[in-house]
Amino acid sequence: MAAPVISPEIDGLIQLLAKLPGLGPRSARRATLHLLKKGSSAMEPLARALTEAAARIKPCGICGNLDTEDPCHICTDPRRDASILCVVEEVADLWALERAAYKGRYHILGGVLSALDGIGPDDLNIAGLVDRARAPEVTEIILATNATVDGQTTAHYITDRLQECGVTITRLAHGVPVGGELDYLDDGTLTTAMRARRPF
Ligand code: ZN
Repeated sequence: MAAPVISPEIDGLIQLLAKLPGLGPRSARRATLHLLKKGSSAMEPLARALTEAAARIKPCGICGNLDTEDPCHICTDPRRDASILCVVEEVADLWALERAAYKGRYHILGGVLSALDGIGPDDLNIAGLVDRARAPEVTEIILATNATVDGQTTAHYITDRLQECGVTITRLAHGVPVGGELDYLDDGTLTTAMRARRPF
């Protein structure tokens, strides 16, 4: 029997990288080859960073953010507005809102309700949100779930659950993107933007 073209060590690396989101087998082969060509100068810092992240990074017990500290640096930062909680699906959404210079605090659900994928309220961090919404300092909850069917369903469900907490519930606006041209927008976005028009 002929020896395999790719050694098991290299193939194992390709298989591991191919499991990462956004990296199919082809990208995994390219990334592996890049690392092998660069040698230890590229691989050792990567291995160290992965080991360090695995050992030190954990979810925040309050908001669900990922950090080396629990509670995370956002939950403990006294300069951030503790009266506003922004509810997002995933940590990636928190990172996006940080780029938008939001200065309140967050609550990460860990996904959205989905009948298709069998994800119900108990699979998400909704009970924790209801507890936080009852705190006297919290006055506004911003629902920043995605503008997908599941994201909207989740926002409606949370609105019902928060009804008796006495907080103002707001939703991120949907509409014409900055730099967008009307002629290129889908009908749903344009209809929502027309309904959400404001005095100018
Ligand atoms: Zn936190």
